[in-house]
Amino acid sequence: MSTVEARPQDATDGRPDGQIAVENPATGETVAHVPDMSAEQVAQLVARARRAQPGWAALGFDGRAEVMYEARRWLVQNRDRMIKTIVDETGKTREDAQLAEISFVADSLGFWAKKAESYLKDERVRSHSPFAWGKKLVARYRPRGVIGVIGPWNYPLANCFGDAIAALMAGNSVILKPSEITPLASLLMAEGLRAAGLPEDVMLVATGRAETGTAVVDHCDMVMFTGSTATGKKVMARAAETLTPVSLELGGKDPMVVLRDADLERAANAAVYWSMSNGGQICMSVERVYVEEPIYDEFVQKVTEKTRALRQGRPGELGSVDVGAVTFAAQVEIIERHIRDAVEKGAKVVVGGKSGAGPGRFFEPTVLTGVDHSMEIMTEETFGPALPIMKVRDEQEAVRLANDSRYGLNSSVWTRDLAKGERIARTIEAGNTCVNDAVTNYGAQELPFGGIRESGIGVRHSAHGIQKYCSTHSLLITRFAPKSELYFFPYSKRRSKLLERLIVLMYGRGSRKRKRGR
Ligand code: NAD
Repeated sequence: MSTVEARPQDATDGRPDGQIAVENPATGETVAHVPDMSAEQVAQLVARARRAQPGWAALGFDGRAEVMYEARRWLVQNRDRMIKTIVDETGKTREDAQLAEISFVADSLGFWAKKAESYLKDERVRSHSPFAWGKKLVARYRPRGVIGVIGPWNYPLANCFGDAIAALMAGNSVILKPSEITPLASLLMAEGLRAAGLPEDVMLVATGRAETGTAVVDHCDMVMFTGSTATGKKVMARAAETLTPVSLELGGKDPMVVLRDADLERAANAAVYWSMSNGGQICMSVERVYVEEPIYDEFVQKVTEKTRALRQGRPGELGSVDVGAVTFAAQVEIIERHIRDAVEKGAKVVVGGKSGAGPGRFFEPTVLTGVDHSMEIMTEETFGPALPIMKVRDEQEAVRLANDSRYGLNSSVWTRDLAKGERIARTIEAGNTCVNDAVTNYGAQELPFGGIRESGIGVRHSAHGIQKYCSTHSLLITRFAPKSELYFFPYSKRRSKLLERLIVLMYGRGSRKRKRGR
């Protein structure tokens, strides 16, 4: 049962005033209604969160960590309820909700509870500058205040509340703005946090659409945004008006490079899993594959067979289906458009290719061959269960094509030669690259995760992923000092000459290394 009760539908448009209907994409049924919050309501939430923040920060790392561990316990105890809520609002399988939402967020709660303090501890700094001799220098991290976390519909828990954890552990309050398509997991998690002892108003959920998100950008002290590249650009433009810092996790078109000496069975299994898992609705799904000529046919055959064997349908008991529904209605049109465009330009659909019959919204797991970069399916984010596979002459061509993208999120290289794999991985232009794996890097939260180019700005996870929620505050403390410095007023010829001699002495030489080499 979701936290927000379904209300009787209004006779005219199926939606009570000021409410958003939440649909189960696998059945087409309305499962709940949530408020469509106005800018004024968001401003009020931010004001409450701002008042609550100093008390939360004052609890210290240990006090905050206790709440996170308790929230983790709550999440595991309430996993069935949370899985049902996520499955109902996304149409994803229970397994997709279990692994990437419950397990990841439970792990993340403990990770930040344990690591936040060490990532944010004061840094004692030593300076080379003569102006700083004898002084104490400290770089410290201070919570920014109220962080706006705006999330997408594909992972309503992991990519919404998931990003709030580090923000909270840093001592901030959070306004959580889930997608209007999937707001229920955030509301349920807020209930869990209250049960775990999070003080009132430290995390508030702002349900609503674009206007609600815009108000979050306007009123918060920093915005952590996950969503499409197009919306990310709007968020950044809006944030520029108030010089609000943003961290953007956006779309991807992640390449997989399969070399002739790869373990083909593992590569084919991974290609199918990481392109179809969560219905292909993962920002770092395998979205395009480049396979060296000698193994191309065998690879395509394996992927085709494995894709054909996938079971798709309404999520039921554990183990009943492999691929669930398409969460967002408009996504079906994008998938269809990409496939139509590819076929018109000469591609072949070897499995799937069509939307499934209703009720509910499904798209068949699809494999395409004969693709190239004139087709949208190789250059634009499809975000559905569709895998295009392209034959390449050699590794150079594979790398050139992998890098031929406006995106740069995740990527992978497959070979038994690990030295070669790492060498090639280092030439891939993306935020993250795996060798003989894909997506798994996301679970290693000690590693930064983020995109380059139009896949985003900034990272989540690692020390950087929590330091971004803080402003740096640098301290210089002078202990023993003369009454006046050489460079203080009044200027005098003698002291200026002395300073000049010092400048020549200190900076007048060339590189010491070069001199030694002469
Ligand atoms: P979206 O951009 O349509 O919406 C994301 C969020 O932004 C929603 O909460 C939405 O209400 C809000 N929003 C819409 N307009 C806004 C505005 N003008 N100002 C502020 N907020 C606004 O994205 P989506 O369709 O929900 O999610 C799918 C996209 O998210 C895909 O492109 C996917 O690749 C990306 N994604 C990226 C990552 C990552 O880590 N890089 C993770 C998950 C999803």
